[in-house]
Amino acid sequence: MYTFTDRGDRSITLRPEGTPGVTRALLENALRLPCRLYYVGPMFRYNRPQKGRYREFYQLGVESFGEASPQVDAEVIALGHEFFASLGITDCESQINSVGCRECRPAYYQKLKAYLAERQDRFCKDCRVRTEQNPLRVFDCKEASCQALLADAPRSKDNLCPACAEHFAGVQDGLKLRATPFVINDRMVRGLDYYSRTAFEYVSRSIGAQDSLGGGGRYDYMVEDFGGGPTPAIGFALGEERALLAAAATPVPERQLVFVVALSENERPAGIALLKELREQGVNARMDYDSRKVQKQFRSADTAGARFCVILGEDEVAKGTVSLKDMKSGEQKELRRGELISKLVAD
Ligand SMILES: [Zn+2]
Ligand SMILES: [Zn+2]
Repeated sequence: MYTFTDRGDRSITLRPEGTPGVTRALLENALRLPCRLYYVGPMFRYNRPQKGRYREFYQLGVESFGEASPQVDAEVIALGHEFFASLGITDCESQINSVGCRECRPAYYQKLKAYLAERQDRFCKDCRVRTEQNPLRVFDCKEASCQALLADAPRSKDNLCPACAEHFAGVQDGLKLRATPFVINDRMVRGLDYYSRTAFEYVSRSIGAQDSLGGGGRYDYMVEDFGGGPTPAIGFALGEERALLAAAATPVPERQLVFVVALSENERPAGIALLKELREQGVNARMDYDSRKVQKQFRSADTAGARFCVILGEDEVAKGTVSLKDMKSGEQKELRRGELISKLVAD
């Protein structure tokens, strides 16, 4: 964490993440459950800066409080996945794991600690400390020799109580229902100590080596630990700088420009209405407001690199149709208004 002493001799820590603050806000404002919140803002960590990782960085996160169903886990994981897809990051993979609950974790920790203790002297110094404080963290070690030693270590997903196992299966079913691609990574535990059951991470190769774009998990005990009632919760946090790097590395197909052409000023109002309708459907559309002459409007469309022109004349407006001109082939055909949108959106 980024901690320092200020001029008033107070110890100051810049916030390293959003979840505990959102949880406090939920309690202090006695928000009604279930409740879904999001945040965007700067966070600070005293890490060594590297590509896409800064000491001050922006995170956007979502949190869902008061819902225990594995369908919520699946919805949250899918939401992050769809966010990356909307940025054009097509190789994003959701890695999921279950780290168990207060029922099943103590016995698992005993097993894992015993495994680690047997190999104690071959693990790095950090891992020896982790073994005592939070043995799951050993899986986070970057040392190849430690990772090799972990090959046969007991995994949390194989040591879940029946309720956790059922939940984990439910998360996978939910992801399949949503057609969200995922893989189980039984070594992924995430850096945070407060997760229970589901932990997940978004991984992309766009930045170079396989790298995390963010992640999250369930934290069913945090609200209680902060003095509230039992409240299941889950959320994720995504790094904006890393998402932008990954998006920049993935070419996004350019959206095809559509030009609306009014044959006379009488059709101008209908053209403007059509322009709005097209944009609402996500079509990149423009119109040349300055030129009255049709030839000039076509020239503007050409200069702007339009793929199609949608032409409105007296006839078309009267019949509720449009003429669609393909600017590459020069082909022109008349379509009903409803057909136009589906044709352009499909292209
Ligand atoms: Zn459990
Ligand atoms: Zn290690």
